[in-house]
Amino acid sequence: MKKIISVVGARPNFIKIAPVNKVLKTYSSRVKHIICHTGQHFDEKMSKVFFEDLELPKPDYNLEVHGGSHAEQTAKIMVEFEKVLLEEKPDLVIVVGDVNSTLACSITASKLHIKVAHIEAGLRSFDREMPEEINRILTDVISDFLFVTEDSGLENLDHEGIDKSKVHFVGNVMIDSLYHYLPKIEKSNILKELKLTSKDYILFTFHRPRNVDSKIYLTELVDSINQLARRSTCVFPVHPRTANKLQEFGLNTKLHSNIIITEPIGYIDFMCLVKSARLIITDSGGIQEESTYLGVQCITVRDNTERPVTVKVGTNQLIGRKLSKVINAANKILDNDLKKGNIPELWDGKAAERIIDILSKKLDF
Ligand code: UDP
Repeated sequence: MKKIISVVGARPNFIKIAPVNKVLKTYSSRVKHIICHTGQHFDEKMSKVFFEDLELPKPDYNLEVHGGSHAEQTAKIMVEFEKVLLEEKPDLVIVVGDVNSTLACSITASKLHIKVAHIEAGLRSFDREMPEEINRILTDVISDFLFVTEDSGLENLDHEGIDKSKVHFVGNVMIDSLYHYLPKIEKSNILKELKLTSKDYILFTFHRPRNVDSKIYLTELVDSINQLARRSTCVFPVHPRTANKLQEFGLNTKLHSNIIITEPIGYIDFMCLVKSARLIITDSGGIQEESTYLGVQCITVRDNTERPVTVKVGTNQLIGRKLSKVINAANKILDNDLKKGNIPELWDGKAAERIIDILSKKLDF
């Protein structure tokens, strides 16, 4: 019997591990699959609701590392995860994405000579001021199996000198979840609950430190959202980081009455909001991909993207952080000047199957 530990820590991780867990269930006579939650995101709205929506079992381990600086969080997760590894002695650790838990657990496993698989390897924003970029680069360099979602990932890993035999282009597990849950997403009542009409609202999400941590920029961002709210109904599910900053800067009361402000929303309802939006304006990583898959217009308020296929092939537009440009781009879309898009290669709901198929051959299970 082989043993695999999958690590989850933050909201996007739950969505990425759910399809892997589903496929590994079909191997249950040969593989014991253990889920370890580091506790990075721990509350009801950022964690618990995802376990319910995505039918994930209660984690076998919860390291309960909440908050702290990057160094504190990474170090605490390493200390706690090492205990789990020494107890369980797994054959493989699976990490996903680019959060601190991804880096902390891959280093810990690698130093104990336990093989590491990184799902969503090779993505690069080429912006080392983003903590995620540091996490991605370091995780990739110590991983034994690198599973890539798009062409750019293959090129980046090649440039960084990663041995090609470790790299596998498999598609996108985030899209596996979307593909699998689409029938449920289509039945969500969220539009009714929020009194929204399909294709008649703009959906906003913002949480990147660069966009929400500065008072000057966040004030301008709120002004820009308000400007668009004069033209269209808006929905703004607010990330906890952003909620704190809006409050700290006294901006939480400054949002236009045409903006429906909510707490973070569970996966099924949120994806229904994404699918039915006329336009999404975001700085999220995952939402660039989900909107591309669903063919929904997306404006990314960042200077770079680690997911260039969403711009090259999909409906995403990388507009930058200049807010006058964001408003112009949004107005164009509201005037029906739309960007055509296609679904990127291998984003077909079968990435987790490909990953487990490769691992089963390599690890012999
Ligand atoms: N998401 C959600 N509810 C929300 C906001 C996001 O279910 O209110 C989901 C959505 O699928 C998104 C994922 O969480 O792709 C990750 O979101 P986030 O933008 O926080 O992380 P990033 O992808 O930027 O790391």
